[in-house]
Amino acid sequence: MPRAVQADLTTAELESLFESWGFNPANAVRVMRSFYRCRELPGSLPKGLVERLKREFPAGSTSLAKRQVAEDGTVKLLLSLRDGRTVETVLMPDYREDRAAGCLSSQVGCALGCDFCATGKSGFERDLTAGEMVEQFLALRREASSLRRRIQRVVFMGMGEPLLNLDAVLAAIRRLTDASLDVLGCRQIMVSTVGIVPGIDALFDSGLPVMLAVSLHAPDDEERARLLPLAKRYPIADILAAAGRFHARDRRAVNIQYCLLKGINDSPEHARRLADLLRDRRMHVNILRYSPTGPGLSGAAYAPSDQAAEARFLAELGAQGLVAHPRRPRGTDIGAACGQLRSARQETLE
Ligand code: SF4
Repeated sequence: MPRAVQADLTTAELESLFESWGFNPANAVRVMRSFYRCRELPGSLPKGLVERLKREFPAGSTSLAKRQVAEDGTVKLLLSLRDGRTVETVLMPDYREDRAAGCLSSQVGCALGCDFCATGKSGFERDLTAGEMVEQFLALRREASSLRRRIQRVVFMGMGEPLLNLDAVLAAIRRLTDASLDVLGCRQIMVSTVGIVPGIDALFDSGLPVMLAVSLHAPDDEERARLLPLAKRYPIADILAAAGRFHARDRRAVNIQYCLLKGINDSPEHARRLADLLRDRRMHVNILRYSPTGPGLSGAAYAPSDQAAEARFLAELGAQGLVAHPRRPRGTDIGAACGQLRSARQETLE
């Protein structure tokens, strides 16, 4: 049984722990605040408590294995876990000089095998704990601080499918949005899924007012199933119905992610069908630029759409009355797609 780390605990749990150690539980909020701000413990804490904390929590559950910085400032970290596995996490500087966004992983590897995804090719190893997700955030926060930036947005869009590890993801979100710590609000957190319908409903049932993103990548079930094997289980109609229920709670638009793949899903006809699907639904469409990851599990090779095809696709969506935003590709020179840094390191180690 691995030793507990501070990121595994809620503030209430730390309060109970302090009480059981014979210290004032009110110190827990101060200790947690310094922890989440990546600062030293407050100097005014009782000496015995400081010593006990250092003894009980000598280290975290992650350590930095590799760090890459892209020309556009994107920082990709590969973190080693206590069992020797590794996981990626990414800091994306915002166009505003004092802000950044963080991308967190929820699993080591992924079981869903999306054909164009580097993580999908590596298979599933294990779920991450809530503490391991919190430590990803803290590693990114340290990076952001060194750049004099503050993390304004967190997306669960890294390795793994967050809705297949929902309990731990929810626990991590609850810690990051603990009102007494003033780290993030739920509105600053987005959970991204390839369309696990019961998971979308469970996220809704959690009552946490986070944002939702759904990756579609194709406008019909048959084409989608060639890219995302999970599509055979959850048809687009069911996914959009679940997304609609999520949206109905508080009228926040759901984000639809659509990654343009050259000659696969990027024709004006695809754009028309996508517009038909989303018409009259309050959803934002983000058009993503693909970062090549080599042949997929099916053996198919994918390439990003060229700029002319992307422009035609966006123009057709616009002509159909659908507003879509091309998302700036980030960190392309360091392998922007999730799973690429980890697989590159595994190849080096093999
Ligand atoms: S795209 Fe997401 S869900 Fe699909 S294999 Fe990659 S990590 Fe898993």
